[in-house]
Amino acid sequence: MIYKRSSALFAEAEKVIPGGVNSPVRAFNGVGGTPIFVKEAKGAYLYDEDGNRLIDYINSWGPMILGHAHEPVVNAVIEKAKKGTSFGMPTEIETQIAELAVSMVPNIDKIRFVNSGTEACMSAVRLARGFTGKDKIIKFAGCYHGHSDSFLIQAGSGASTFGTPNSPGVTKGTAKDTLLATYNDIENVKALVEANKNEIACVIIEPVAGNMGCIPPTKGFLEALREVCTVNNILLIFDEVMTGFRLAKGGAQELYNIKADIACFGKVIGGGLPVGAFAARNEIMNYLAPIGPVYQAGTLSGNPLAMAAGLAMLTELNNKPEIFTSLAEKTAYLHTGIAKVLTENNITHTINRVGSMISIHFDDAEVVDFNSAAKGNNDTFKAFFHGLLNAGVYIAPSAFETWFITDALSYDDLDFTIAAINTVAKTL
Ligand SMILES: *Cc1c(COP(=O)(O)O)cnc(C)c1O
Repeated sequence: MIYKRSSALFAEAEKVIPGGVNSPVRAFNGVGGTPIFVKEAKGAYLYDEDGNRLIDYINSWGPMILGHAHEPVVNAVIEKAKKGTSFGMPTEIETQIAELAVSMVPNIDKIRFVNSGTEACMSAVRLARGFTGKDKIIKFAGCYHGHSDSFLIQAGSGASTFGTPNSPGVTKGTAKDTLLATYNDIENVKALVEANKNEIACVIIEPVAGNMGCIPPTKGFLEALREVCTVNNILLIFDEVMTGFRLAKGGAQELYNIKADIACFGKVIGGGLPVGAFAARNEIMNYLAPIGPVYQAGTLSGNPLAMAAGLAMLTELNNKPEIFTSLAEKTAYLHTGIAKVLTENNITHTINRVGSMISIHFDDAEVVDFNSAAKGNNDTFKAFFHGLLNAGVYIAPSAFETWFITDALSYDDLDFTIAAINTVAKTL
């Protein structure tokens, strides 16, 4: 494939945008080479500026669950745009999408809309701190909750239970309130809780991790986590920015039948426009301004275009729940096909999958947490990524990302992908 125009556009972008991109993973630092510039997209396909067609397995990192330029969503946005694009005043559509979301997601009475997943998680943590009157939070290594200070924390050195900043600009003061736990390790969580008695406001978790590849919770882990939180008066926050409206109508709470205290949403809930949200039962949500003491706000929050896109998307998912089965079946088909060709070509691998989230790890050990995910052979991944790209299949440019399956994919697309993987595997 030829990327002449993409390369030229990237060179131009680098002059005026740091690294040429507005979000780092797009820069291909994990795989080398220069990013592809998208011209347009429809259904399961991306078309780049050089005229190449790519089957898309990122789907805007999740939102395009029904395919790109999905007509009901596009039409809803066009119709709304004609009537004004922002007022900073209440509109009826905000209540409509809130009612729908509350009816789809278990255990929530109220929902507040924001503009990104980052905002949703950041606000949920503030709400949890305000509600419990406690300062510390527990997050899991390898889980991503957006780029707000409290989450940009890595494991502390040696025996320290405190995290340390993993970006300049995050203060030590902030870092000391974030404790880092190991995913799928309940004893580790219990030890942190014990060592910080009555200081922990919340545990925030991706109920299915999607930012270190796809890592499902091991059997009983979420149940045990729920129990530890309940017993210790700690709020359990499910970051469902990836899993919400994707694994089931009601997200991971529904799939695993576990009640979170606060749920965070993003990606799918905005239908491809910048939207996030956080939701909880009345007792907690009524702690928010203007009726409660915890401040949270946004000039563009509940923006009519964003709400129109989100409402169109959720309406479709709500009316056609068979989409979730269809997505899971397509993903399972892909899983079986990929496993077969990788095995036939003697490529060491582990494949993780939940619903329409799937990831391939180039190592044969079970991938259950950040350390096991980090063992994957990155050189193999890089060659795999570029081989697939050349064949017209676009996966995320990082070994730590999940593939997001869209219902717009046909079985022919899946067969094409499996055949491409077979060809690429012979070169690895
Ligand atoms: C993408 C993501 C976020 C951050 O959302 P943005 O819209 O990028 O700010 C938070 N949590 C999870 C689980 C995510 O995947």
